[in-house]
Amino acid sequence: MQPTGNLHIGNYLGALKNWVRIQNDYECIFCIVDLHAVTAFQEPAGLRAKIEEIAALYLAAGIDPKTSAIMVQSAVPAHAELAWMLTCVTPVGWLERMTQYKAKSATQESVSDGLLQYPVLMAADILLYQAGIVPVGEDQAQHLELTRDIAQRFNSLYGDTFVVPGTSLPAVGARVMGLDDPTQKMSKSAAGTSHAVALLDPPDKIRKIVMRATTDSNPAVDFENAGPGVRNLLSIYQAFDGATDDEMKSRFAGMRYGDLKKQVAEMVVAHLGPFQQRYRQIVNEPGYLASVLRDGAERVRPIADGTVGLVKERMGLYK
Ligand code: AMP
Repeated sequence: MQPTGNLHIGNYLGALKNWVRIQNDYECIFCIVDLHAVTAFQEPAGLRAKIEEIAALYLAAGIDPKTSAIMVQSAVPAHAELAWMLTCVTPVGWLERMTQYKAKSATQESVSDGLLQYPVLMAADILLYQAGIVPVGEDQAQHLELTRDIAQRFNSLYGDTFVVPGTSLPAVGARVMGLDDPTQKMSKSAAGTSHAVALLDPPDKIRKIVMRATTDSNPAVDFENAGPGVRNLLSIYQAFDGATDDEMKSRFAGMRYGDLKKQVAEMVVAHLGPFQQRYRQIVNEPGYLASVLRDGAERVRPIADGTVGLVKERMGLYK
């Protein structure tokens, strides 16, 4: 995750919750991508504080640093090194076609080269560790597709080098929409005060935001004809609760929207309460976060350096 803005329930349901679920089934590396964050200007002291905040949120969600590595991208220089090597096998046209690039560059007067290269650096984050699967939200599926294309192109040019990674999306919650505008993905950078529920929002604020959520003109929940706002509220509830489709229907069919919103708000509050308590304990433990991040970087560095060594050998670079 990028250490920018405030992590929200979209980040949690789309990615973080899935990470916690799979952490004992795979050898996992969870990265905080500060080099990606600086593709847009970040106030330096704020960025540094955000990196630790994200690490604390990973831990509060239940990532166990004893079994998984939690690390910061810029602490392992091989990320940037491999990104350059991959840049050289990536056609510019592939990058210009990326939806996220097109959307972000459309709102900027001057577009940095970093914004265009963003998915190549992401490919490096993944291929560096020969990752088998990458658990992300749906918005990152296209970047994963590109990562596979880059890996395959490199492999065909220089011989088998990279594992071609798979994508893992959660069954529910892969694309949480904005509560104020359910046609837009919930995003950290959106301006509206009723757009997203942040993971560290207090209960009253959560209730207020959910109760204001945009719905549609039906009087009550109708699963066949629900608009995007109601579908979004239902899937937020389902992703937190783990209810089956049938359970959702029997609980909510015919329910008035005011009651639906109350139930969704209480479900979010009930989950984020204990989460926020763990977060506060973690940030109040002096030196703990720094030691988790140092340990994470030390554990992954040999894997990353090994891959860069292999790539150098394949490309004929000087070792
Ligand atoms: P980012 O906000 O770009 O740092 O994304 C961090 C992770 O959260 C990525 O795996 C995204 O796919 C996921 N994510 C971001 N926004 C959403 C959303 N609205 N719904 C579901 N997953 C999301």
